[in-house]
Amino acid sequence: MIVKDAVCPFCGCLCDDIEVEVEENRVVAVTNACELGTTKFMGEKRMKNPILRDGDRWKDITYDEAIRYAADMLLEAERPLLYGWSGTHGEAQCVGVHMAELVRGVIDNTSSVCHGPSILAIQEVGHPGCTLGVVKNRADLVIYWGSNPIDAHPRHLSRYTRYAEGFFLENAFRDRKVIVVDIRKTETANIADEFVQIKPGGDYAVLSALRAIVQGKTDTIPRTVAGVTREQLVRVATLCKAAKFGAVYFGLGLTMTQGKYKNIRNAIELVSELSRHTKFTISAMRGHYNVYGSNEVNTWMTGYPFGIDYSRGIAFYNPGETTAVDILARKECDAALIVGSDPAAHFPRKCLEHLADIPVVQLDPYPNATTAFCNVQIPVAVTGIDAEGTAYRMDGVPIRTRKVLSTDYPSDREVLSRMYILMQEALER
Ligand code: SF4
Repeated sequence: MIVKDAVCPFCGCLCDDIEVEVEENRVVAVTNACELGTTKFMGEKRMKNPILRDGDRWKDITYDEAIRYAADMLLEAERPLLYGWSGTHGEAQCVGVHMAELVRGVIDNTSSVCHGPSILAIQEVGHPGCTLGVVKNRADLVIYWGSNPIDAHPRHLSRYTRYAEGFFLENAFRDRKVIVVDIRKTETANIADEFVQIKPGGDYAVLSALRAIVQGKTDTIPRTVAGVTREQLVRVATLCKAAKFGAVYFGLGLTMTQGKYKNIRNAIELVSELSRHTKFTISAMRGHYNVYGSNEVNTWMTGYPFGIDYSRGIAFYNPGETTAVDILARKECDAALIVGSDPAAHFPRKCLEHLADIPVVQLDPYPNATTAFCNVQIPVAVTGIDAEGTAYRMDGVPIRTRKVLSTDYPSDREVLSRMYILMQEALER
């Protein structure tokens, strides 16, 4: 059987033109996906059943027992943390928010350690963004700033920018310019028309210099800014002003470097300056599959995109205080539910030391670095492969993802809903 138009569940591009060949309920071939997507579809060795830590060994338990354990853990905790959510569907994220409210916990998603600062900047100055389709068809200039799509979002270039046909571009490959701004020459820089190499931590200064040049204040610019010559800055600003439609895509190289959200605010303001001369947009290269969806779902349910604390009985948001890394580092939470992410692979050691001291339940199809910190791990269906649902693409477009395999594994939403019902019943007694 060949499943057409499947949606890749790996990165924020959510490529929706994938063909998956299935034989005896196993993926045997994948067409159109990049290497990252193909590997995800082909799958790894999955866990067969829930496991419970028993001293220094693991013991198999039933789904009923595992779900009961997780529900009791959250009910008994005074300040539980519900973290992750970027690797699961919107339907599961909804249940997660209801659970956090029920147990007065803190719910945070992976954007607090990736594009959280970008969201803070957008909350201050707005988001002059557009869909990927608009960029593909109209943009004659694309800037990748602090992002390396060849490694992280391989088909972004072939579907929307460098190698994509454009409805309003006669010869897109020739007519569309690509500029890469980064601290080192990445693979994406190798295929760019212009590479701007800046000194680490110099993004804010370079953005400010470009804004000044766009405003006509070139004579205020020193000979070099963060390692970039004035001539190159003028050349880049001239290319931007001459473009009919420009698009800036920024990654963690801009968001998570010195300046953090101020960098993004400055970049958005540069785009606003450019829009006085031509049409320009800016968007984040969202990494995890449905991380955009976790911000959307949290925002329309709580008013806030991440780091939401229900301990007061109402939604409270203060990034730096109510975000997972800070709560773990301060040893505030006394239990953790992890869904659709692998914090042990990314969080600082201090956070992991606390994670090792508290009860942890993880929902994930595969053993990962966080498994070592778990008391219970519940294997679930792979979101977007054997569970269907809604995910948001990096440009905010919601996409209904298709199921390509039928397995007996319950989805995240099913497991979380069963936990929620048990918790509601216990609280009503
Ligand atoms: Fe999947 Fe991203 Fe590759 Fe597209 S670019 S196939 S969404 S990993």
